[in-house]
Amino acid sequence: MKKGKAYIIGAGPGDFELLTIKAKRIIENADCIIYDRLISDDVLKLAKKDAELIYLGKGNTEGGLIQDEINQTLVNKCLDGKNVARVKGGDPFVFGRGGEEIEALFKNEIEFEVIPGITSSISVPAYAGIPVTHRGLARSFHIFTGHTMENGKWHNFENIAKLEGTLIFLMGVKNLDLIVNDLIKYGKDSKTPVAIIEKGATKNQRVTVGNLENILGLVEKNKITPPAITIIGEVVNLRETFKWFETENLAKKILVTRDKKQAVEMSENISKRGGIPVELPFIEIENLKIDLKDLEKYKAILFNSPNGVKAFFENIKDIRCLANIKIGAVGVKTKEILEKYKIVPDFVPNEYLVDKLAEEVVKYTNENDNILIVTSDISPCDTDKYNSLYKRNYEKVVAYNTKKLKVDREKVLETLKDIDIITFLSSSTVEAFYENLDGDFFILGDKKIASIGPMTSETIKKLGMKVDYEAEKYTADGLLDVIFK
Ligand code: SAH
Repeated sequence: MKKGKAYIIGAGPGDFELLTIKAKRIIENADCIIYDRLISDDVLKLAKKDAELIYLGKGNTEGGLIQDEINQTLVNKCLDGKNVARVKGGDPFVFGRGGEEIEALFKNEIEFEVIPGITSSISVPAYAGIPVTHRGLARSFHIFTGHTMENGKWHNFENIAKLEGTLIFLMGVKNLDLIVNDLIKYGKDSKTPVAIIEKGATKNQRVTVGNLENILGLVEKNKITPPAITIIGEVVNLRETFKWFETENLAKKILVTRDKKQAVEMSENISKRGGIPVELPFIEIENLKIDLKDLEKYKAILFNSPNGVKAFFENIKDIRCLANIKIGAVGVKTKEILEKYKIVPDFVPNEYLVDKLAEEVVKYTNENDNILIVTSDISPCDTDKYNSLYKRNYEKVVAYNTKKLKVDREKVLETLKDIDIITFLSSSTVEAFYENLDGDFFILGDKKIASIGPMTSETIKKLGMKVDYEAEKYTADGLLDVIFK
């Protein structure tokens, strides 16, 4: 069997957009992705649908055990013929043990490529507004691990204390007392500024600034935890002027609860407007195989949702049969999707209701005409009522099912923890959300709830939650208009 190829990839420090274009392309095409704890979910979302995702988090283990397992997994997957993306935080060669993986690959005659990443050692300080060099302040910078001791031997701090450049320690939280005390002991000015940056370049970034003398106290007071970078030198003072990425004014995290496929566009729009989208689908849209043979017999076709349009066109054989049929769309979004299929609807009612569609089509048809309504399994579409009200022959075709999903409870609670706004685009999503929460309403706290329109709001209130935002235009974008206003 032909062996696969290994790609040793650096994914940058945490902000997904700091991934290189090359890394993105390779991750999108990989058969298998091996990743560790510092990799953002957004990176994993790039994976193709059938890619195998393997988490081998290293945590803080210093020993070789997990690394051996990683090497072995990497080798085995390549021997199985898979192209493997080995994705690491920062850069693979900056305390990333990329070299050890390459040695294992080399031994097994497996081809590899290295895709460098933006290392946290420089970029995390940058996100805290601290340049590692600056004219007149630092003409060099030096990066150390604060973690491993080679053969039980600690760094030579007598030499390090003499360096004039900026000192940067990765993995340095645990041994910070050793670092600080040795630097002072060997002559570094105890007033030298120090910054510790936790979870840099993420929305949880926190920066603690002090000096060699008082930093240990601050670490204790602020309960600083890894991953964190310690940066020591006069450049730290520049933060006062240079800081730009301040998380307290940072974008709101918005939960997107709709179907996975539809979530993509909404998430993009949230990002574009400066929010942070988090996807956790509570429903799934399942397009059905529908029989659209005798379409010519209808005088009008009514589309009750964008999904209905998509499902309809998945099933239609030849759109020329629609030539003489009047088309109604329930709202602007449905109209837009129809227009993508090069169909300009004859009418769009003012209110986004299937009842209104059924009423307005009367103007475009005669008594006893056949009218088809393309809808979903849960739509309040009542053809009997329309038949008797309007003296036409309404029929409906269910083009897709809306399935409520059972989401892992832990996952729901974990995801909700740092969400600011929860969006609901349909009543069924609200119901699914409610069922999954299973009474754990405390988690909602002061989170805001956003609803696409009156029907969905009613369901939200009925289930005992409150509505903080309601769209004026009943579309996902209309809802974002209100949220971001
Ligand atoms: N290869 C990585 C470093 C791996 S060692 C790189 O080039 O960035 C892991 C250490 O990196 C952590 O203990 C921490 O010191 C640092 N680190 C990585 N990402 C970080 C982040 N987003 N914020 C703060 N420190 C980070």
